[in-house]
Amino acid sequence: MGNYYSPEIECAGRDALMRIQLERLKALAAHAYKNVPLYKKKFDEIGILPEDVKSLADIGRLPFTTKTDIRDCYPYKMLAVPDEQIARIHASSGTTGKPTVVGYTRGDLELWAECCARAIAAAGGQRGDHLHVAYGYGLFTGGLGLHAGGEKLGLAVIPVSSGNTKRQIQILTDFHSDILCCTPSYALYIGETLAEMGYGPDDIPLRAGIMGAEPWTDRMRLQIEKLLGIKAYDIFGMSELCGPGVSFECEAQEGMHINEDYFYPEIIDPETGEAVAEGESGELVITCLNKEAMPLIRYRTRDITSFIPGKCSCGRSLARVRRLTGRTDDMLIIRGINVFPSQVESVLLEMNMVTPNYLLIVDRENNLDTLEVQVEITEAFFSDSVRDIEHVERKIAHALRDTLNISAKVRLVDPRTIARSQGKAKRVVDKRVY
Ligand code: AMP
Ligand code: ZN
Repeated sequence: MGNYYSPEIECAGRDALMRIQLERLKALAAHAYKNVPLYKKKFDEIGILPEDVKSLADIGRLPFTTKTDIRDCYPYKMLAVPDEQIARIHASSGTTGKPTVVGYTRGDLELWAECCARAIAAAGGQRGDHLHVAYGYGLFTGGLGLHAGGEKLGLAVIPVSSGNTKRQIQILTDFHSDILCCTPSYALYIGETLAEMGYGPDDIPLRAGIMGAEPWTDRMRLQIEKLLGIKAYDIFGMSELCGPGVSFECEAQEGMHINEDYFYPEIIDPETGEAVAEGESGELVITCLNKEAMPLIRYRTRDITSFIPGKCSCGRSLARVRRLTGRTDDMLIIRGINVFPSQVESVLLEMNMVTPNYLLIVDRENNLDTLEVQVEITEAFFSDSVRDIEHVERKIAHALRDTLNISAKVRLVDPRTIARSQGKAKRVVDKRVY
């Protein structure tokens, strides 16, 4: 019991929490309507005004927001405050080549740090601990998000960033890292490398891990916990909403608590847009109750989960959701990078020796994700006597790295060898075992 950063909120009574949510929802509707043309248009289209929000149930009358909306506002048209108030910009990959851009005010950064501080505290972090952040630093939100949370909680933050696994292990050991923050697949890789180097879990000081940014399972959790000798906690977030810290696991390790004073959750049937029955799974929809720079109303996360009814043994009253079980779209997360098959397709369409018949084969070798792109060559290229297969493969691999930031093994295959489908084309074979 214990380990709260903001007990007055985390353990608040439902009524008190709902009062805060309603007050913030009203202010959000007014802010978005007044300052973001997209929201003015959406509200006007359905004939609703911010003043019509009188109860929390009225949220169901507000319009949804999608990733496409954000993309259409690329880069800054979603921002609701003057440039002078923007303190940070992050981005994540979108469904086409263009990233989804997110802006933060000072206040938004504070709020985000608060969310991460709660997550780190729930994982047992306290003053005097060393927080080893091995999420990437940069436009990706993982590194800087947990970094700020650790500082806010008063920990010593070690900003290692991702990569260079042997060095990670050296730092873990020599700098005495207590809590490791990284993706679950990277945690497994670190654990395996540790074993290869002849060390066991008792040789490192770690006691907890805060892991997210990609799907994982309880089976993976057990492996990570065993290899590193830690308790591994799930954390969820996405750049559009702020970054990591939207929801986090507590010591019960039974689903994630949502920071409901900032993020109002709904779970809907993705087809009908209606709320699912209690405990059923559906698409998580989040309203950012008090973000200043980029207010978001009913954001369709595309992530699938369900609410866990009942009270948690940790004493928090914040709503809980189960581990994410998938997405309603075809987004893949490969080595922490969001990849949409459509992005790969647009790169292939730029090349004139290949056809848009392709297959992405995602696998995991030594706990690292691998991507092979099989693509059919054109008939003309096939019959060309001087064709240089390797050169074209390299050229496509370069283009994929340049535009999508992912390294892939490209394999050209003969025309008409990739299976055709009667309905939706099957573009992805995901062989990863979680
Ligand atoms: P990004 O905006 O690049 O941080 O990517 C956000 C996406 O990562 C989410 O929409 C989820 O699909 C995925 N994600 C983040 N955290 C988790 C988690 N704990 N479990 C499963 N998927 C996650
Ligand atoms: Zn709990």
